[in-house]
Amino acid sequence: MSGRFPFRKGLQDVGDGIFAYLQPDGSWGYSNAGLVTDGDESLLVDTLFDLRLTAEMLEAMRDAAPAAREIDTLVNTHANGDHCYGNQLVEGATIVTSEATAAELAEVTPAMMAGLLENADQLGEAGAFFREVFGAFEFRGIELPPVSRTFREELALTVGDTRVQLIAVGPAHTRGDVLVHVPDSGVVFTGDILFIEGTPIMWEGPVANWIAACDRIEALGAEVVVPGHGPITDRSGARAVRDYLVYVRDAARTRYDAGLSATEAAQDIALGDFSSWHDSERLAVNVATLYREFSGSSETPNALELFAAMAAIARRS
Ligand SMILES: [Zn+2]
Repeated sequence: MSGRFPFRKGLQDVGDGIFAYLQPDGSWGYSNAGLVTDGDESLLVDTLFDLRLTAEMLEAMRDAAPAAREIDTLVNTHANGDHCYGNQLVEGATIVTSEATAAELAEVTPAMMAGLLENADQLGEAGAFFREVFGAFEFRGIELPPVSRTFREELALTVGDTRVQLIAVGPAHTRGDVLVHVPDSGVVFTGDILFIEGTPIMWEGPVANWIAACDRIEALGAEVVVPGHGPITDRSGARAVRDYLVYVRDAARTRYDAGLSATEAAQDIALGDFSSWHDSERLAVNVATLYREFSGSSETPNALELFAAMAAIARRS
């Protein structure tokens, strides 16, 4: 892991007019973002989970880089709210993301999140866990502006003279995960394809796509790898996430073949070295997603059931 950059809240200058915005400890909802500037042009990689956090970040960016006073392009790496619920504050920007993310954005709305938080008391264990991990954020008053431009596989952009390559690698963590690569500077923003020092959560799968995405990050050869959550890393961070996915895939498969339920399997799998990563309860979602994949099921998972399953594991650890 690259120790070049401290893991502290705020903007980190990673060179060539490129910045990472970090939010320790990287747990639920505390995501990272990025900024690429060249001359008076700028590209923002993701906003944060609510308006207060995003406004604070944009102010830090404007202070550090004049080009950030008016963001030209906003790229959302995926549709989870902790990467896009501040979009409305980036006025006038061209919003770009993958076709699949644009479609997914319409589904889990900020109003639904606000409603779940308000009614958490009536939702039992799942509600209590939901409130525990998301209660610090404010989902009221959030409106998602429309996406301006979508792409399927790759899209080449420029910021001033700087080349920026968008690479769609989903479905994996979500339906439409995107990597943002700045090849001439050796920097890549991975969105939630990488969680560092925290447990990855596979809402969507298939796992093979996510493993391939880790390989793709390694193959890019970037020296500065900014994950969606956690400290800045290098290619070793992609390798660690890949190792976790392979381990959990194989452990889940053995238990699936032995006839255990997804819940039983998640309770039974020992995480070994990976247990030091925070939010290890996400194993419950990962196993549930793998079981759907193993069985060929196309049913939509029940989010409340997944939160209840995570709560059961979190309570035990
Ligand atoms: Zn995230």
